[in-house]
Amino acid sequence: MARFHQDLWPIRYKPLEDELLSSWLVRLAHGHGLKVQSFCNMLYGNKRQIWNRDIDRLAPQWLLDDLKLHTGATQMQAEQTTLRIFDGVLVKHYREAGPLQWIQLMQMYHRKREGYGQQFCPICLQEDKVSYFRKTWRLAIKTMCLKHNCMLMDRCPQCDSAVSYHRIGMGQPNHVEFDPLSTCHECSFDLRAASAKPVKVYNEEAFDWLRRVVSDIDDFSAGKSVKIDLKEVSLFHHMTAMVSKERNRYHLGQHVADMVGADDYVPINTNRVALESYQCHVRNQYMQFAAWLLVDPQVRLHQACRARAIRHNFLLRDMKDPPAWYEDCVNNRIATRARPFFERRHKINLDSRADEIDLTY
Ligand SMILES: [Zn+2]
Ligand SMILES: [Zn+2]
Repeated sequence: MARFHQDLWPIRYKPLEDELLSSWLVRLAHGHGLKVQSFCNMLYGNKRQIWNRDIDRLAPQWLLDDLKLHTGATQMQAEQTTLRIFDGVLVKHYREAGPLQWIQLMQMYHRKREGYGQQFCPICLQEDKVSYFRKTWRLAIKTMCLKHNCMLMDRCPQCDSAVSYHRIGMGQPNHVEFDPLSTCHECSFDLRAASAKPVKVYNEEAFDWLRRVVSDIDDFSAGKSVKIDLKEVSLFHHMTAMVSKERNRYHLGQHVADMVGADDYVPINTNRVALESYQCHVRNQYMQFAAWLLVDPQVRLHQACRARAIRHNFLLRDMKDPPAWYEDCVNNRIATRARPFFERRHKINLDSRADEIDLTY
């Protein structure tokens, strides 16, 4: 017990609800009056580089063990700060480098973060007693704050820099009083003063579906017991990627845009950009479109095939392990040309815009 007390640091903040490892570590460093780089160099020397990697994703065990020891945080509290908790939940094969399903890319280059992978809700930051960054703000599936009904942001509104709170105070050698983590490291703008934008809703039913998905993920990330089906979130990812792209014989996104009356749809016309690096409002639109298809998949996917917005063989392409119901829906329903049978069983509620679309095969 005596040993334990010796190990405790003078400042031993515990992680806040849903707090990211990097946010916790920066708060601890600032609490000790040090920049996070100086703090880590003092503790771990130059051999163990932390800030040239995405530490929330890498989350080395020795670092978690050390923070546990010196702050008195529990194993559970420390492990809950890392993006590893989404392994097998949102991500199929968690690895340390390369794209990961639904995890925003930081695109680390030395200590700089070039990618806009760290999102935030300005109102959450405003309401915090101490500003801190949440794990869910690193997720591509999370584009809006359900508590404040607003879009997340992913950059400083004043200078367009990506959020890099670990760089606060860099280049200022005598810094000992630190600005809150909500401060832009580049121009010192306080992200709490950013004006949050409302979410544009394209279809109420699809939006409610998306809200429920995000709400489950918020609960899971906060440590509540929620069952998230990896196959279902992978299907949602697949569908979101499909509505985001356009090809010669493939314009599913435009089809959904027509069906829901959206006039601001723009596809991403390159395969090289991962969904995890699309801008927040763009991802939000694509996810609402994908949700619209998944609210009533048998009817709406069938309708999309008939409108020649997509060929049915694309619906399963590149999907390694789809949910059984979806495979069945694509193989046994959509692939069939027995339209009268299909339509008898599922009343197709076409909106008036469908009149403009050629419904023959
Ligand atoms: Zn919020
Ligand atoms: Zn700025």
